[in-house]
Amino acid sequence: MFKLTYRILIVGAGINGVSTALWLNRFGHDVTLMDPHLPGTGASFGNAGLIAQWALVPVTEPGLIRKIPKYLLSQDTPLFLKWRYLPTLAPWLVKFLSHANETGAKAASDGLAPILSDAVEQHKALAAGTSAQDWIADSAFGYAYKTYSDFQHDAYGWAIKQAHGLSPEILSNDAVQEAEPALGPGIKCLAVLKGQGHILNPHGYINALYQAFIKEGGRFIQTAVQDFLFENKRIKTVVTDQGTFDCDKLVLTAGIWSKPLMGKLGLNVPLETERGYHVVYKNPSLVPKHPMMMTVGKFAVTPMSDGLRCAGTVEFGGIKLGPSSGPVKLIRKRVAQYFPHMTYEDTEEWMGFRPSTPDSLPLIGELGSTGVFTGFGHQHVGLTAGPKTGRLIAGLIEGQLPNIDLSPYAPERYRRS
Ligand SMILES: Cc1cc2nc3c(=O)[nH]c(=O)nc-3n(C[C@H](O)[C@H](O)[C@H](O)COP(=O)(O)OP(=O)(O)OC[C@H]3O[C@@H](n4cnc5c(N)ncnc54)[C@H](O)[C@@H]3O)c2cc1C
Repeated sequence: MFKLTYRILIVGAGINGVSTALWLNRFGHDVTLMDPHLPGTGASFGNAGLIAQWALVPVTEPGLIRKIPKYLLSQDTPLFLKWRYLPTLAPWLVKFLSHANETGAKAASDGLAPILSDAVEQHKALAAGTSAQDWIADSAFGYAYKTYSDFQHDAYGWAIKQAHGLSPEILSNDAVQEAEPALGPGIKCLAVLKGQGHILNPHGYINALYQAFIKEGGRFIQTAVQDFLFENKRIKTVVTDQGTFDCDKLVLTAGIWSKPLMGKLGLNVPLETERGYHVVYKNPSLVPKHPMMMTVGKFAVTPMSDGLRCAGTVEFGGIKLGPSSGPVKLIRKRVAQYFPHMTYEDTEEWMGFRPSTPDSLPLIGELGSTGVFTGFGHQHVGLTAGPKTGRLIAGLIEGQLPNIDLSPYAPERYRRS
């Protein structure tokens, strides 16, 4: 049968761009990935590496608004704000908080489930036959609580997970340290989900996927995309700092940097960054057997190839202001508290930009019939959902009927609001 081959430009080489590039290449298209930096060096670089199939509860849980004053006035809670950024943040924050209710949280969970629930399988399918598969680990995932009663207080989140078929095994008291000897006595309850997975080194993994893309015939141009030209309302040319490039289709996967590029396309997308931090403990004397969420501090601890990565917290501060000391201090304090026997040689710190929308859902789909597709806005779960996002976009370009309802991710939904 006759098959159309398109010239496709992909803007941004994080997990979403590289996954999309690899799938499109496998469908036989002429694919070029563009990024001013090397692949996998944006938000995809320093995340917690969790294939977070269970991350169905948005930050905008009902009740968030009540907790915000306490969160913002304390350096001991996982939400931080650069106060001078508040005037810029305010309009987005109002939209974001308007989702912090039963209806908004349910819509977010229902929208997230189809792109998260089979993520381990999606990662394995993307990486199959490449060296990237060596970076995928099968694991369980534990939520670490100070007490069983703290677990019970988290009933709202667990009810959502349970509704999506995720039931934990609960370990209490000594059983916690028997299962995870690295944990000190401060953790008395562990809620464990079996059948999960994580990435042993997110940068190594994305780089291996990228190498596979190049080996399979794809191209990479190190350049910043600046603007877009249309002919008969369809994408024709991409303007970059290294000249212009013609294409038949364009995929925008530039994470937080997608916002100004969407502006060039005529859409003012409410995209804001939830900044997050990591501390990697190098050569630790002991590590947990499986990744865990430290619920006090809201950061994950993930055993990785280069040490124990402790990553999380949320800080509002935009992309221009430098890192703050509060979030890493909090991570370090909690690690010392809950892994009291761990020694290590050195540590490394990092800050990255989660690209977040008010409704906690990404923008996946085509802008009208322009030939421009979007794959960004995955907030806390971009690593998890990247391979599926890439496969969905590749399928749309191929003209396949998606097997999930894509309307919650419609890239033009904010045009209507
Ligand atoms: C601390 C922390 C922990 C996290 N933990 C997890 C986790 O455990 N699991 C999970 O699923 N998610 C996690 N996340 C979220 C996840 O990292 C992001 O959602 C994901 O990396 C976003 O990927 P992306 O490909 O959309 O964007 P990015 O990785 O940011 O890539 C965007 C790319 O676009 C490029 N770009 C920018 N401007 C241009 C331009 N003009 N032209 C061309 N290219 C451009 C950038 O250089 C960059 O390479 C975490 C995030 C943080 C900060």
